[in-house]
Amino acid sequence: MAGKDVLDSKAAKIGVVKDLSLDEGGNVYLVVEGEKGKERSIPFGHVARIGDVVLLRPPLGEPDEEDKKEEVPEPTPTPPIETGLACPSCGHENRPGTNFCVKCGTKMTE
Ligand SMILES: [Zn+2]
Repeated sequence: MAGKDVLDSKAAKIGVVKDLSLDEGGNVYLVVEGEKGKERSIPFGHVARIGDVVLLRPPLGEPDEEDKKEEVPEPTPTPPIETGLACPSCGHENRPGTNFCVKCGTKMTE
C-alpha cells in the first residue's frame, strides 16, 4: 500500500500513501504525504478504490443524482364537455341531440 499515488475523485493527485494509522476508536486512516512533505490523514471509508493508485470518493456535499425527486403534476379536473351543435346554415349553437336548428329551422345533420 505504501508508495501508491492517492487521487481525489477528479483524478487529481493529492499525495502518496505513507502509512496506515489507527485512532483510539479503531478507525483506520490513510496517512498521505502530499507536496512539501505535508501529511494528512484520510479516513479509510473515504477510499473508493484501491488498485495501482488509491482513488478517493467525492467529498460530501456534492449533488447526488439518486437524490432527485420526481415531480408529480397535480391532476387537473376536466370539466364535462358539452359542445353544442353548430347549425350548418346560420351557425347557431344548438343543444346536442337537437334535430332542427332552433333559430332558423335547418335540419341538423351529423
Ligand atoms: Zn340555424
